[in-house]
Amino acid sequence: MYDQILVRYGELTLKGKNKKDFVNNIYQMIKFKTSDLSDIVLSKGHNRLSIELNGTKFEEVIERLDKVFGIGSYSPVATTTTDLDDIKNLALKLVKAIKENKKFKVETKRSDKRYPLTSMEITQEVAAHVLINTEHLSVDVKKPELTLNIEVREDKSYLYFNRIKGLGGLPLGSSGKGMLLLSGGIDSPVAGFQIMRRGMTVEGIHFESTPLTPIESAQKVVDLTKKMAQYTGKKGIKIHFVPFKNLHLELLDKVRDAYKITIMRRMMFRISEKLAVKNGGLCLVTGENLGQVASQTIESINAISCVVNIPVLRPLISMDKNDIITISKKIDTYLTSIRPFEDCCTVYLPNKPVTMPRISKCEFEENFEFATAVDWCVENTQTVWIGEESEIDLPSEGFEVKFNK
Ligand code: ATP
Ligand code: MG
Repeated sequence: MYDQILVRYGELTLKGKNKKDFVNNIYQMIKFKTSDLSDIVLSKGHNRLSIELNGTKFEEVIERLDKVFGIGSYSPVATTTTDLDDIKNLALKLVKAIKENKKFKVETKRSDKRYPLTSMEITQEVAAHVLINTEHLSVDVKKPELTLNIEVREDKSYLYFNRIKGLGGLPLGSSGKGMLLLSGGIDSPVAGFQIMRRGMTVEGIHFESTPLTPIESAQKVVDLTKKMAQYTGKKGIKIHFVPFKNLHLELLDKVRDAYKITIMRRMMFRISEKLAVKNGGLCLVTGENLGQVASQTIESINAISCVVNIPVLRPLISMDKNDIITISKKIDTYLTSIRPFEDCCTVYLPNKPVTMPRISKCEFEENFEFATAVDWCVENTQTVWIGEESEIDLPSEGFEVKFNK
């Protein structure tokens, strides 16, 4: 019955002058995501886009649409001629496919003003036809449970019921670039997804400390990135693996226990800022969440982020853990995130980290020559693009992988 999908853009209507680029961006993304479905035909309109299915199952297309940011909603559409009898028959067929009792309404738009009936007349004719020939519907124009939309255009009529909610947000690439601090945990991939949903391109930064931490932790990051790359174009997401072991060992040795995490995170932020400058990133993005752990009290957040001069975005700052988990399940990162391997934030660290670090006390870090170590980490960072289909298996002995840049 359904032979098209009507795709409506999300917030784009708000963005008058950039609209063309935005629409283009969504169009290209849908095109890329559906490139293996050779029978479908996309056509881009000013306020919406239509996809002719030509025999392709609409479920197959919808699966791809759910990976494209910027889509407000979409509807499967059935088309017919502009002949009133054809419209009535199709309407009846569509309604008969719905088995439950429903309060029902017909709504008509007529872009061809020369059409012999007004919108209201079409609505009345179709509603009467449907009601006479079915038993499970009653009319309720104020609070309908089901609305049959009819659009009569010059060449064809379009009939559809519901609007299915799209991913929303802004198309990827419309909000600059940020550096996502990506651990193997639950939060940071969700933070990445949330910020990508606002149109920001991300490059990931992962601090790996093999062999202090198992290689499986870094593999988790690869696998999480593959999941996040479902929402990007072909190349996927660039990840910077920072060889953190030496600096990590040094600070485990030289910093007193309570401040180890705070100082470690100050180092991570310094390195990330340098990588941002080097790669054109305008901010850092983290999975921090207020009060979740000792390093995420506002005092800690302050003592950590005061070492950098670029904005730090924390999309999850006010969310409840359950809601974060719900998103991580939705984007399919959850099962990877809960694989039980330690990363540098958990390995060899004290049970009682300070919850209210004082910035003046953080100067402990000056007990060792961290500036050189920070620069060394930046210079020896290994970068790799990870796409949805990338096959990257890190070697089990250590992190001596040479990626193709
Ligand atoms: P997550 O679930 O993202 O690991 P978390 O609740 O475990 O977060 P922390 O371990 O305190 O919290 O880390 C807070 C944030 O710091 C993470 O969300 C991430 O953005 C960043 N981060 C932590 N460890 C690393 C790492 N090894 N590499 C890169 N970023 C990290
Ligand atoms: Mg963590």
